[in-house]
Amino acid sequence: MKINRRQFIAASGALGAGMAAKAIAQPQAAVPQPFLIGSQAAPLLPKAAGKRVVVCGGGWGGISAAKHLKKNDPTLDVVVLERNPVFFSCPMSNKWLIDVVDSDFLTFSYLKIAQKYDYRFVQTEVVAFERDKKRVVTAQGWVDYDYLIVGAGIRYNYEAWYGNDRKAAEYTRAHFPAAYIPNAEHYALKQGIKNFQGGDLVMTLPPPPHRCPPSPYERACLIAWHIKKNNIKGKITILDPKPGINPIKGGFSEAFETLYKDQITYVPNAVINEVDPFNKRIKTAVGDFRFDHSVLMAPHQAGDMAWKAGAVGRTADGKATGWADVDPIFLTLRDDKDVYVIGDAVGFVSPQFKFYPKAGHVANYQGRIVARYIADRVAGREPKAQLPDNLCFMMVNASPREDVAVRFRYHLDDKGVIIQEQIDDDLRRDDLVSEDFQWAGRMYEDMFS
Ligand SMILES: Cc1cc2nc3c(=O)[nH]c(=O)nc-3n(C[C@H](O)[C@H](O)[C@H](O)COP(=O)(O)OP(=O)(O)OC[C@H]3O[C@@H](n4cnc5c(N)ncnc54)[C@H](O)[C@@H]3O)c2cc1C
Repeated sequence: MKINRRQFIAASGALGAGMAAKAIAQPQAAVPQPFLIGSQAAPLLPKAAGKRVVVCGGGWGGISAAKHLKKNDPTLDVVVLERNPVFFSCPMSNKWLIDVVDSDFLTFSYLKIAQKYDYRFVQTEVVAFERDKKRVVTAQGWVDYDYLIVGAGIRYNYEAWYGNDRKAAEYTRAHFPAAYIPNAEHYALKQGIKNFQGGDLVMTLPPPPHRCPPSPYERACLIAWHIKKNNIKGKITILDPKPGINPIKGGFSEAFETLYKDQITYVPNAVINEVDPFNKRIKTAVGDFRFDHSVLMAPHQAGDMAWKAGAVGRTADGKATGWADVDPIFLTLRDDKDVYVIGDAVGFVSPQFKFYPKAGHVANYQGRIVARYIADRVAGREPKAQLPDNLCFMMVNASPREDVAVRFRYHLDDKGVIIQEQIDDDLRRDDLVSEDFQWAGRMYEDMFS
């Protein structure tokens, strides 16, 4: 008997269904997994011979801490847990958006520096903390520690805009990325700037405290420079929830008014009431805005690891502060002296200025400070209090190249309170550009050579 095509398809469908039913009725034994795939419930590493310090997050803070731990005490077993395969620097990334520097200038190998200083770099996702057992749980297994350093960075608090609407948050991140967390968003933003043919570009600034306070103004200047240079009929509207520019107010407002009068509109007191990313509308305390393109920067909070570690503090009425609750000087959790938090995730440190500027410079400094504290404790010495400083250069013009800058100094007053001094350098000029590149060179050298 001949079988035609239709009968064949019907027969093979029935056969397939029969086989599927058989497969369901008789499940096969689980395929044994290769050893290195690991399980969250098993140890990822053997027990350390000496003291182990686990560093969660290989950003500006974590990667600095790892190297300086080994420099201070080569006998320490140091493990860095980081989700990204390579380091991508946010500092200098605004300049990269308009090709003042290339990608090589921002990216560094984790493996090379780990080999040089003889610590372990594990590319993995940190999924939980079991502080009672002194363990960090990763996607591949758990790691035990004697001391823990959490350099969690930031997360976007989209919940402040959208409540539990995950779709709106995901749509915003995909279509209007803030590019404040490396690095896929940075590539998307750079592409968006290259493709920008004109129209209304709106930037929402996060309320303080947020990552790198002057950098949104730098970004606006450099995108405006690109628009002006290429004669694009576009306008940038900066929606700032603050009553005015801070820091470097004089330098940025002069650049907005003199260099980018036709490209930038600065709107103070623009506290966000509602964001509709689908219909491209924003309602603020000072009016409503529509946009063709946008850089939607939601409020910032400590990154996910700070929340998972139970490091985030509470307000007097029990709400989450959003930032890690640490001893302001020794940077340990108030309820766990073996856990340190460094970098942007650090919360309130002083009644005078509340939060350190969330800067790579501060994170690097805190990484070094905490490395010293831990080495002292391991050696049985009493750690001596140390405070960071901060220095930040911002490009406002790309031809000729001109920067403005801000410096922060810290000291303890006679009551042990940290006091901040802020010095704005508002006069845009080229020698600050040289200092900017020297600063970046020093930082990269400290972290990666
Ligand atoms: C546009 C821009 C310009 C800036 N310019 C400057 C500047 O000029 N000068 C300056 O000093 N600062 C600047 N900054 C700020 C600087 O980038 C941050 O302050 C700095 O990165 C903070 O360091 P950190 O270690 O706290 O966080 P990060 O550097 O963000 O490191 C956190 C790390 O944790 C990792 N991580 C997070 N969650 C997990 C997880 N669950 N599992 C595994 N790994 C995880 C992340 O991948 C990341 O590598 C700028 C920032 C931006 C966005």
